[in-house]
Amino acid sequence: MSVISTNTPTSELQALDAAHHMHPFTHGAGLADKGARIITRAEGCWLTDSDGNRILDGMAGLWCVNIGYGRRELAQAAARQMEELPYYNTFFQTSHVPAIQLSAKLAELAPYDLNHVFYASSGSEANDTNLRLVRTYWQLLDQPNRQWVISRWNAYHGSSVGSGSLGGMKGMHAQGCMPIPGIAHIDQPNWWAEGGDMSPEEFGLATARQLEDKILELGPENVAAFIAEPVQGAGGVIVPPETYWPEIQRITREYGILLIADEVICGFGRTGNWFGSQTMDIRPDIMTVAKGLSSGYQPIGGSLVSDQVARVIDSAEFNHGYTYSGHPVACAVALENLRLLEDEAIVERVRDITGPYLAEKFRGLTDHPLVGEAQIVGMMGSIALTPDKAARAPFEADVGTAGLICRERCFANNLIMRHVGDRMIISPPLVISESEIDTLIDRAWQSLDQAHADLKEQGLMKAAPRN
Ligand SMILES: *Cc1c(COP(=O)(O)O)cnc(C)c1O
Repeated sequence: MSVISTNTPTSELQALDAAHHMHPFTHGAGLADKGARIITRAEGCWLTDSDGNRILDGMAGLWCVNIGYGRRELAQAAARQMEELPYYNTFFQTSHVPAIQLSAKLAELAPYDLNHVFYASSGSEANDTNLRLVRTYWQLLDQPNRQWVISRWNAYHGSSVGSGSLGGMKGMHAQGCMPIPGIAHIDQPNWWAEGGDMSPEEFGLATARQLEDKILELGPENVAAFIAEPVQGAGGVIVPPETYWPEIQRITREYGILLIADEVICGFGRTGNWFGSQTMDIRPDIMTVAKGLSSGYQPIGGSLVSDQVARVIDSAEFNHGYTYSGHPVACAVALENLRLLEDEAIVERVRDITGPYLAEKFRGLTDHPLVGEAQIVGMMGSIALTPDKAARAPFEADVGTAGLICRERCFANNLIMRHVGDRMIISPPLVISESEIDTLIDRAWQSLDQAHADLKEQGLMKAAPRN
């Protein structure tokens, strides 16, 4: 085999990639035909590919590079830690300085009394931990029947068997006997697609009350917890109506069930506050964190746990842990990332300056003939593509057809914007500047124009009846 480097011709890299690399959430044969786009470098909000294109990353990688690319401080923190102590575990009565420092820092940043951390290397692992945490919690409180966890359709909580079962992605459940037993799902608060003739406020209450109905159906004495993302991310950046979260909070309190806020995307500034729970004004017992915790520079996640839950869990041996729980290099990089987010007031800038600036421009996309609603909180947003705005109608074509056409146009215009079905979503690095926001919106508009023309040409601007 010849020596491979970033200077190897793209076609050769693509062929080798297709021959040996199985990609996540990808139709392998389809990718092999087209060839993967190969990213070689990145700086700030900009990616460079193997053909030398400069691409504006409107997704911060996978929602994670909050601090932006190319921060040497993080590379240096990793190098320092690797030299000093590259690895040690946190099992069996041992600890190390980076895990101690990061835990104390997270306790300081997290709201309420979420003062305790159990580490994982990803959001999926952390949600698996949460499943075991909440069930163990009730067992230790002599309520062993409280084992059901309620979640929502179209939620995303990860890709392992446990976290994938917590999630509500039917396409995932279909591959591998999921969901596992003891997990129930209720509808998501997606008013645009599922709200029918209700107002958003009525629909928010109605979907929240499905939680109460489900608790009563299962028996309150059998329910351990409810898990949800403050704002759904991978499901299409779905911001719930204002009535939703207060009602959910009322129900979890009334029946005494634990609330898990999956902050893997919302955490660390994405919504304009440190945590999405603050933006949505909810008080969870457990928060899942990952992604923005290290801005993606190292794989790390965890569960932030309340005093009460930690007290109960700590009353026995918790038979659970990962070899890399509290990995020292990942902790050191996360700490440096949090230091930069704080010192450079990046979250405050999103809240007060760039977030409102982006929101105004992004909402302007609803003037485009292809765009129904726009939703945006902080630095995460979505637009719904539709052939008929007034009717809030979906396309007659298969779900995702229009979205894919639009995403291909974005790609060709050197803008990374993802599609979820026929919603287009953004989640740029939090450090994006006003002029880069202008570029993002210009390219999005241009891509929408082209996608609109494509759809008309292919006879796809046909509406189906709304659900
Ligand atoms: C990405 C994500 C996860 C899973 O995290 P991984 O690090 O990919 O395992 C869990 N929950 C939410 C809300 C996510 O967006």
